Amino acid sequence: MGASTAVGSAVGRDEEAGRQSPGTAPTPHADSTIRRSSRRAQGFPFSLKQLCCPHCGAAKTLNRHSRLYGNDPAQAKARTVRGQRVFCSDRGQRGGCGRTFAIFLEDVLPRHTISASLLWALLLPLLSGQSVRAAFHQAKTPMALESIYHLVARLRRRLDAVRVCLSRRGPPPECSHLDPLLQTVEHVQTTFTGAVCPLRQFQRVFQQPLLG
Ligand SMILES: [Zn+2]
Repeated sequence: MGASTAVGSAVGRDEEAGRQSPGTAPTPHADSTIRRSSRRAQGFPFSLKQLCCPHCGAAKTLNRHSRLYGNDPAQAKARTVRGQRVFCSDRGQRGGCGRTFAIFLEDVLPRHTISASLLWALLLPLLSGQSVRAAFHQAKTPMALESIYHLVARLRRRLDAVRVCLSRRGPPPECSHLDPLLQTVEHVQTTFTGAVCPLRQFQRVFQQPLLG
């Protein structure tokens, strides 16, 4: 079954949805998947043919529903496409369960405005001894410094889950850092050496929202 593509986490909240789900109220713990970004991100970047419903496991029952929109991390007050809500059709002979779930672009951190790429640009300088404040000023993000501190604190609370994923791919590298956050950032970096953005790769490979 293709349910391995599902992420069983509390993503797909109301604020992710441009509109309400068809026929059902959005569930607070809707499952989601994370898909590779596409140059056609403004079109239809997802193929539903390879997906199964994470709720009932049915294949070939999935229909695109509303796009998921959110704040654009690159521009204040702008909106951007973050993913797609998908409906598992129970109409006619389709045999689905009638529920919905969200699929996100891999650069999207569900429930957070910041993109995976931007977060990586903020984390990488920490490995060379820079402060969060210095990395923030260098990244020139429209977000507030206070928000970045909250994100880093959020990531610290997620380190155990992140490390469990990473350890499936290999042990942590020899590391001179004492801070568990920096140890984990380095582990992500070595696990996905060569990736354009290791955090995007993390989400796509493990089908786990980095920040939960
Ligand atoms: Zn279903």
